[in-house]
Amino acid sequence: MSSNKSIAVLTSGGDAQGMNAAVRAVVRAGIYQGFDVYTIYEGYKGMILGGDHIKKAGWSTVGGILHKGGTEIGSARSDEFRTKEGRRKAVFNLVSRGIDALVVIGGDGSLTGANLLRQEWAEHLASLLEAGEISAKAAEECRSVFFTGLVGSIDNDMYGTDMTIGADSALTRITEAVDAIISTAASHQRTFVVQVMGRDCGYLALMAGLACSADWVFIPEIPPTPGEWEDQMCALLKSGRESGRRDSIVILAEGARDTEGKLISCDYVKEVLEDRLGEDCRITILGHVQRGGAPSAYDRYMTTMLGCAAVDKIRTSSADDEPLLIGVQENDIIAVPLMDCVSKTHEVRKLVANGQYKEAMEMRGYVMEQAYDALKVMIRSLPSQPKPGQRRLRIAVMHGGGPAAGMNTAALTAVRLGLDGGHVMLGVKDGFQGLINGQIEEMNWRSVAGWTTIGGAELGTSRKTPSGTDFYAIARQIEERQIDAILMIGGWTGYQSIYDMYKRRDEFSAFNIPMVCLPATINNNLPGSERSVGSDTALNNIVQVIDKIKQSAVASKRCFVVEVMGKYCGFLALVSGIASGAERVYLHEEGVHIQDLLKDLESLVEGFSKGKRLGLMIRNEKANDLYDTRFMAALFEEEGGPLFDVRQAILGHLQQGGNPSPYDRILAIRLAKLCIEYLVQECLAGKKPASFIGMQKKEVTFVSMSNWPELVDTKYQRPKEQWWMSLREIARTMNKPPEGVEY
Ligand code: ADP
Repeated sequence: MSSNKSIAVLTSGGDAQGMNAAVRAVVRAGIYQGFDVYTIYEGYKGMILGGDHIKKAGWSTVGGILHKGGTEIGSARSDEFRTKEGRRKAVFNLVSRGIDALVVIGGDGSLTGANLLRQEWAEHLASLLEAGEISAKAAEECRSVFFTGLVGSIDNDMYGTDMTIGADSALTRITEAVDAIISTAASHQRTFVVQVMGRDCGYLALMAGLACSADWVFIPEIPPTPGEWEDQMCALLKSGRESGRRDSIVILAEGARDTEGKLISCDYVKEVLEDRLGEDCRITILGHVQRGGAPSAYDRYMTTMLGCAAVDKIRTSSADDEPLLIGVQENDIIAVPLMDCVSKTHEVRKLVANGQYKEAMEMRGYVMEQAYDALKVMIRSLPSQPKPGQRRLRIAVMHGGGPAAGMNTAALTAVRLGLDGGHVMLGVKDGFQGLINGQIEEMNWRSVAGWTTIGGAELGTSRKTPSGTDFYAIARQIEERQIDAILMIGGWTGYQSIYDMYKRRDEFSAFNIPMVCLPATINNNLPGSERSVGSDTALNNIVQVIDKIKQSAVASKRCFVVEVMGKYCGFLALVSGIASGAERVYLHEEGVHIQDLLKDLESLVEGFSKGKRLGLMIRNEKANDLYDTRFMAALFEEEGGPLFDVRQAILGHLQQGGNPSPYDRILAIRLAKLCIEYLVQECLAGKKPASFIGMQKKEVTFVSMSNWPELVDTKYQRPKEQWWMSLREIARTMNKPPEGVEY
């Protein structure tokens, strides 16, 4: 596709947080590609109305919208677009402006509509030409239309992508609400029934159930049997109470039905609970709260990546190519045939409607399947009885390194899944120092109660790495406590310590047991995993504070230099920079040079003199020891003169704290489940691997500890290859117009 072509972007169907990030990314990446970019207001309605509803976008058209919920360019349902005549008008409006590529941000309805438009394009062109409404030249220039689809849907109900735009934010709203409800429920020993969105898809209910340790979850894909589920649910909640649980939470997807197809209502669930358990039961229907509010960090940076990828596909595809859905698989952006995804999405709905639940769940994908497997165990009030004759392993769970949100979630999951498998779970206090001192306790089902939702590390953690005689002390503890396997949930020092033990296996035979590390650090500086537990919570903490900092400056012309954590790893700085729209990010990996600072100063002066009101520079804490945050703020302040003033903001430990985000809770649960299964399997097979687990590109895998030295840069405590460095281009593209383009 040549670069003089025009593309248009629209949002359609239900709104979702993050749609603004997508529009912004499409407009700005499009401008970088040299495309004329149009924004279409009010979805297909605007496409049919034309006129001012389709406007050429400039760089600043999409300024200041990244942090806003909903969609700034509007979305509307359009019945007229469902008609051929309506779509003919739409083609006229697009062709008149030379538009022959679209980025449609919406649900499966909107994407189906776009495909229809594409299929009928030639027919409408011929008719418009014949009627003399468009010129032959215009028809020739836009002889077909190519489009990419980004799925905006809080329900996460689209086949072909792990996440849809808005789903993470909706889940964030739900977990915040349920966390709050848990505290009041626990105070009065009450049961709450919480209804969440999800007419066809149980993603939100299932993940919220898992992320908030609910006692019972209803989802459309796994309908319960009427007459049976009532007894099962009440028995479970009753035994939960008897074993000391003070709060009971039932989560219900709005579309949940029983096996006979009857909708399960909150009122009915409440009635059952009150009648049979004699409990005070309250209903909370979360409703549109889930759709509203600021997008999560994930819905800002991942969606920005999606928007850029959509434009890139337009650049490299020809107008006759099949439409593509731009989505996510694990941590990677993918482009897959769009209509195949739409038809498979419809297929899943049909499977549910026809009672083929197993097949429907399979099509939802392994993330949901694994989550449901984990939920089945986690909602128990007691572990299953060990099987007769089964070998009971003694598995130690511990932390290492600084605290990170989600460590508790991972520890709880490991302990409960291990206990449920019939094993003895040992909790090591305070990291490697505790292991050396023998602070090791047997854990039971209740000892981890409530851990899913709280930040920090209840087991305790330390940055101690063993040395000298410490190894001897650890070997003795392993032997005395008959530890069969170790799960270390933590960061750099935890990994380093397990590696040091692995290296000393010849010296200490006790170290010849399976050992696995689960990445949990806000810094996201570990090899073998593109994401570590805790890094998403830290990103959200940063982005929320920056939103507030930006608001504080509305009345003045001000530039902020914000310092974020990460040690020598720039992940937090760069990704929070993308998520918050920073114009410059300083990383240790790239270095900071005085020429860069002077160039940045020049660009600030130019921007502010042309009417810019706010500057945002994000600096990794170790970007440069001498050019520190204070220095940079002072330099910009002094040299910027009266045009603008400069403030520094060192965010500090607030980045490490707070309740884990749903992303971190779910990642922690997924990884901990796989680690426990792996340790048990390897132990029973008589193997003794030492490895670390992680999400890499499109899958979750284990990597042997033997690779540690070649994968890491020990001096700066980061992997030699950091996937996120490839996002630097996106950060630059989003935050500063190309040469010759006005702000
Ligand atoms: P979503 O995109 O969130 O699934 P809808 O199903 O309401 O939301 O679709 C949004 C808009 O997309 C509709 O108002 C209509 O204009 C258009 N649309 C949806 N389905 C079709 C279809 N089958 N044919 C043509 N246009 C459609």
